Amino acid sequence: MSILVTGGAGYIGSHMVLALLEQRQEVVVLDNLSNGSAVSIARVENLAGRDVVFIEGDVRDRTLLDRVFREYPISDVLHFAGLKAVGESIEQPIRYYDNNVGGAVTLCLAMESAGVRRLIFSSSATVYGEQDSVPYHEGLPTGVPTNPYGRSKLMVEEMLRDLATADTRWSIALLRYFNPVGAHASGCIGEDPRGVPNNLVPFISQVAVGRLEALSVFGNDYPTADGTGVRDYIHVMDLVEGHLAAMQAIANRPGVSVWNLGTGRGYSVLDMIQAFERAAGCSIPFRVAPRRAGDLAQVWADASKAQRELGWRARRDLDAMVADAWRWQVNNPGGYAA
Ligand code: NAD
Ligand code: UDP
Repeated sequence: MSILVTGGAGYIGSHMVLALLEQRQEVVVLDNLSNGSAVSIARVENLAGRDVVFIEGDVRDRTLLDRVFREYPISDVLHFAGLKAVGESIEQPIRYYDNNVGGAVTLCLAMESAGVRRLIFSSSATVYGEQDSVPYHEGLPTGVPTNPYGRSKLMVEEMLRDLATADTRWSIALLRYFNPVGAHASGCIGEDPRGVPNNLVPFISQVAVGRLEALSVFGNDYPTADGTGVRDYIHVMDLVEGHLAAMQAIANRPGVSVWNLGTGRGYSVLDMIQAFERAAGCSIPFRVAPRRAGDLAQVWADASKAQRELGWRARRDLDAMVADAWRWQVNNPGGYAA
């Protein structure tokens, strides 16, 4: 049997494909390369010493999906394909709903007609919106995401719940990622944002490597220990291992299961700068800027449900996350394009 990985040429998807290949799984990647790179797939194949089937195409292309399900014996789908830039989603909401919600609809229709009903969906902690207290646990009602990107994730979650209620043969995992960072320890694959990065760790990496001048710290007047925003950063390889555990679990678990994938620990922006300075051995110039619209003061996971039900927990610490992010950046200062 084969695993279909949509968005497998992207940041998290490429690490997932590597982990699957290392588990001797057959992998089919579908990616339209709108934010991914075929080079990442080639590097994954090199690292694993095995090949994947790579199909350049769009998850909204029903004809293509039907062909993929006809040609390959797909048992499970890991659905990473999606657009993820929060600011861009505010400027281009319909593009985000079309890609993220429309993509999931088309994928589910194609899965349905192919009789494939095991799906892992890349959701996000953003679906919790702002809650009264941290940590966020899966029992909380979902909240009000502050942007179209977040709403697209919540819409897909709700759609998948309706699907599994209507047809109990589906097994679906909604994996709510906190803040994935870092890279495979080889330094050969990693996060390669196009243009100026929106996220903290890629931004700091590019400052450290000299591609960007200084980091703007978005607010130092939050009600947190040092006044800067606190997040639950999780190593991408831990995240990927969480998917392997979830895949195993849903094989015998019909319905919808929700798991947070986080470490259960929060670090501030200043903590991240300091960790990076330790890893890179240089100072990271920064200036304090106004808060970024829509940002919450502090978000971290209650990660106990995944530990209890999946036997999974994040094992890599902050120093490993930034050391691996840094190794990837130093080895590939221009990303995959260079
Ligand atoms: P990414 O942009 O690196 O990877 C997404 C991949 O999907 C890209 O390779 C892109 O080319 C592909 N893609 C996008 N739309 C497509 C379409 N219509 N058809 C086919 N391929 C398409 O992003 P990532 O960080 O690897 O994120 C993967 C998933 O995890 C996304 O759904 C994202 O929303 C979700 N997620 C990411 C984070 C994060 O911080 N990275 C946090 C929470 C959730
Ligand atoms: N952040 C920052 N400067 C940046 C990017 C991010 O200070 O250039 C802060 C942001 O306000 C938040 C944290 O870093 O407190 C993580 O932001 P990121 O965009 O990486 O993730 P998310 O907002 O999705 O949690």
